[in-house]
Amino acid sequence: MTAKAPITQDMLTIPRKAPEGLPNLVGMTRDQMRAALIAAGTPEKQAKMRVGQLWQWVYHWGVRDFAVMTNLSKDYRAMLARNFVIALPEVVTRQVSDDGTRKYLVRIAGGHEVEVVYIPETDRGTLCISSQVGCTLTCSFCHTGTQKLVRNLTAGEIIGQVMLARDDLDAWPAPGTGTGDAGPRLLSNIVLMGMGEPLYNFENVRDAMQIAMDGEGIALGRRRITLSTSGVVPEIARTAQEIGCLLAVSFHATTDEVRDTLVPINKRWNIETLLEALKAYPKATNSERITFEYVMLDGVNDTDADAHRLVKLLDGIPAKVNLIPFNEWPGAPYKRSSNNRIRAFATILMQAGYASPIRTPRGEDIMAACGQLKSTTERSRKSRAQIAAEAGL
Ligand code: SAH
Ligand code: SF4
Repeated sequence: MTAKAPITQDMLTIPRKAPEGLPNLVGMTRDQMRAALIAAGTPEKQAKMRVGQLWQWVYHWGVRDFAVMTNLSKDYRAMLARNFVIALPEVVTRQVSDDGTRKYLVRIAGGHEVEVVYIPETDRGTLCISSQVGCTLTCSFCHTGTQKLVRNLTAGEIIGQVMLARDDLDAWPAPGTGTGDAGPRLLSNIVLMGMGEPLYNFENVRDAMQIAMDGEGIALGRRRITLSTSGVVPEIARTAQEIGCLLAVSFHATTDEVRDTLVPINKRWNIETLLEALKAYPKATNSERITFEYVMLDGVNDTDADAHRLVKLLDGIPAKVNLIPFNEWPGAPYKRSSNNRIRAFATILMQAGYASPIRTPRGEDIMAACGQLKSTTERSRKSRAQIAAEAGL
């Protein structure tokens, strides 16, 4: 690893904590918002229109203050302010890497912290977001796997990560631009590759991604969202039906014996079962290839024989392989494969016709690369960490 330039870090002072008590509009689906507005006294006939107006203010313009919503009457704005808040998780610190990667430490209700990573590239910007604090699963190479699940994030906390990054990047549309305007976007892609297993928090992830994809708000196309799962088979078909985003799978091994130790959920749904579920996915979503994430662990899963087996397993699945050099963390029981080994592995895959980019670690100087994130507030015996991933998809 190369020496890195000094890190810049600043404390953001904008208070973003949701005042206790009032319901937060951020994270409500359109239907939920409609019901909430009616419960607060909005005539049923008007409710749909009011949702449309609020939706644009909140998700297209990034407005947080009801007073600014000039197409609503003063009385209605006052009613909203009495009954609701528009609140995001609180940004505690922000670090900027010398490669432009930004890492936000974000505090959610209950005092838990998660990290969110923004990775700029020439033609896009990818935000890596979390779906849970901790993880119920115990993948042996993953820092998050050493911690217990603290709780699922709410839909508001999930979409809130996108919104606070847009705030920081100053990436809300300028006044005068139309809803859904294209134009260059600093935050153009989302990857659900932070802390947690998104398919064990399905409803909240789905609702948050529906909000992100809604054409009158943040308006990210469904192919600009990638959900990474360790292989929660029963939820894969549901992901196709109810979200329709791109799928990545933490594959990491080519035999059940090895995958059982690396990704223990394999004991429940083994490689064969997982591959069956994956085969149906691209058809069901009319989407592109599935990304197979494969962490390169020295002497564990990185032989030529593994590469050949992987090629066989992928047969019949539109796939690309993302080779991730293992990011070490304190106490990790594995080492990163050598560059030569990773290249040799990639060559075998490429010769078989699979795109297999080697993911360049980003933001290493601020511990923002895959598996390096760590939230320090948790007080379990084992260290609490979380994973971020780079775009590269
Ligand atoms: N729980 C989901 C999503 C988060 S993990 C999942 O497992 O897919 C994002 C990616 O980073 C996964 O592919 C994960 O296996 C990988 N990862 C975890 N720890 C890592 C480490 N230390 N080095 C490199 N990649 C890691
Ligand atoms: Fe959880 Fe994913 Fe880490 Fe496995 S790799 S422990 S599923 S966050």
